[in-house]
Amino acid sequence: MGNGFFGKILWIDFSDETFKEENLSESIYRQYLGGYGLGCKLIYENTPIKYDPLGPDSIFGFFPGLLTGSTAPCSGRYMVAGKSPLTGTWGDANSGGTFGPEIKKCGYDAILFKGIAESPKYVTIIEDEKSIHDANDIWGLDVIKAEEKLKKKHGKFVKTAGIGKAGENISLISGIVNDRGRIAARSGIGAIMGSKKVKMLVLKGNKQMSLANKRDLLKYTKSYNSEKNPSPGKFRKSLIKKIPGIPKLLRRLHIPFKGPGKILTQIYQVFGTSIGNTLLAEIGDSPVKNWGGIGQFDFPPNRSTEISTVRINNYKQRDYGCLTCPIQCGAILKVPELGLEETYLPEYETCCAFGTLLLNNDLLSIITLNDLCNRASIDTISTGVTVAFAIECFENGIITIDDTNGLELGWGKSDSIVELVKLMINREGIGDILADGVKKASEKIGRGSEKFAMHSFGQEIAMHDPKFIESLGCTYAFDPTPGRHTAASIDFMNLGPINKYMKGFSLPKKWKKNKEAKYKGQMLVSGLQQVINCLGLCTFTTLFGSYPSKEIIESITGWDISTDELIKTGLRIQTLRQSFTIREGVKIAENYLPSRVIGEPPFEKGPTKGITVDYREFYEGVCKEMGWNPQNGYPLKETLVDLNLDFVIKDLY
Ligand code: SF4
Repeated sequence: MGNGFFGKILWIDFSDETFKEENLSESIYRQYLGGYGLGCKLIYENTPIKYDPLGPDSIFGFFPGLLTGSTAPCSGRYMVAGKSPLTGTWGDANSGGTFGPEIKKCGYDAILFKGIAESPKYVTIIEDEKSIHDANDIWGLDVIKAEEKLKKKHGKFVKTAGIGKAGENISLISGIVNDRGRIAARSGIGAIMGSKKVKMLVLKGNKQMSLANKRDLLKYTKSYNSEKNPSPGKFRKSLIKKIPGIPKLLRRLHIPFKGPGKILTQIYQVFGTSIGNTLLAEIGDSPVKNWGGIGQFDFPPNRSTEISTVRINNYKQRDYGCLTCPIQCGAILKVPELGLEETYLPEYETCCAFGTLLLNNDLLSIITLNDLCNRASIDTISTGVTVAFAIECFENGIITIDDTNGLELGWGKSDSIVELVKLMINREGIGDILADGVKKASEKIGRGSEKFAMHSFGQEIAMHDPKFIESLGCTYAFDPTPGRHTAASIDFMNLGPINKYMKGFSLPKKWKKNKEAKYKGQMLVSGLQQVINCLGLCTFTTLFGSYPSKEIIESITGWDISTDELIKTGLRIQTLRQSFTIREGVKIAENYLPSRVIGEPPFEKGPTKGITVDYREFYEGVCKEMGWNPQNGYPLKETLVDLNLDFVIKDLY
């Protein structure tokens, strides 16, 4: 065991119901950190080429970040990872809450699942006792009811992560839920868990990691937490520059604004991400009407303010956040009109996918949908995009009321939207066709429906517009987990004071005006983003000012690690994700985005008027900086050698 990790992972094989521990050397952690960095290394080396992600050879796992389990601020995240059954590429998803630290408390740096169980099972790891149990009495329950039953049996302090009905039904857009409503949603990893017939992982640990320098860690933790309202200087300036007259705009959208110095605190502590619900529709970042509309005209403030963060806050009972986070951007709501005593605040992505994207300003329906999806473990982004697809197919006569179980679909028809999502969760009628996302649905429906399917390589595209945040076009198209807004994007990261984030990290000078400098900046950001994720840090930390990453890593692990080494580590992880995707036969560099998403033809009015995104040229420039072949995205042999990824060469060449 080293400092900051246990040096031990757990394999659970459901084909013969066995547990096996494996020890890992310190050099693995130094090269891959934790999270999906460690996950990608382990899964790459333990799976055959071109395997079926839902078959017996498939492996997926739970991977806390390297810093997860310590007191490091905002380090409570964990990742699930495996081959995405939705896209066929590398797949991963990230979640917060309290589950990630519990994995570490059980004494493991990762827990991996392999094989397929003969009948539904759940796993307990409770203070060193490991067991596989029959899950027939919880199979079919939503994640909250299942957790309640398991707590009665195994004690109220256990932590759970698992699947609801959508995961059990192997919906390719299902995720894994922990803490009764936090979801590692993307990439369809819930379908892998469902295919293995595993309902839940139940944990309670009592172990503590050894730390290199506990006193220093507490010093840095305390100092960061006491500055949880850091100077918003640059953040505010870049935001205000991007959105002239922001205070006026916020007031027009009925969002209270108390003055420049308070903006960050207001945004994240008071409102959370749902601050974007009205604001981003107005300024051109939110996709509207299945990417075919313009916020100012199709979902103007008199409608968008119906789903504003201020309206949502009327239901707020208390703040909620991930373990060790001083910001606590989430909230628990009580909604008497819906009979909901306790439900999670819907995030911006959810509100946009079920609101702006569908021209739906019925807030209660959005809260209902958020609750339904969390309980069923289905991704709200993919589900909303799939509903938008179905509505547009209906409006264009491609499907009719005879196909929709009698539902009259239409923009903003909230009752039928809720019913359609229930059909998807249960795979009933048209819901069975839609449960695997828009690409699969359009292949089954045919008749020109593919033009309404807003996906990238099979994954539904997230709720930020590359016509507004340009480099997202490249990220959406070509990241090994395509269609994701949380993958690395220089313009997105630049919303925060990114040059202050980590000592020694800065973007190239004049990158906004110089193409070559921007390619290099995207490469650097790509490395940084993997580091943030694999340390288990929240990606929002880039918005909150500087984060003492190197100091905290040193106080936890004892490593004196330079910024250059950290960025190179991030690039190693990104290159391995890319190599996995190529090894599995995916021609990621040949991907293209739907024409609406990139502005082909461009809008004739609105904030993104006249903009078409050239994401392909950008990708080629970034590939050169990454040491990848710009024609096909293959990492070059010398790049693989330089990154200590020699073991990949035989698979790619
Ligand atoms: S800012 Fe929000 S999402 Fe990030 S760690 Fe804190 S509570 Fe979790």
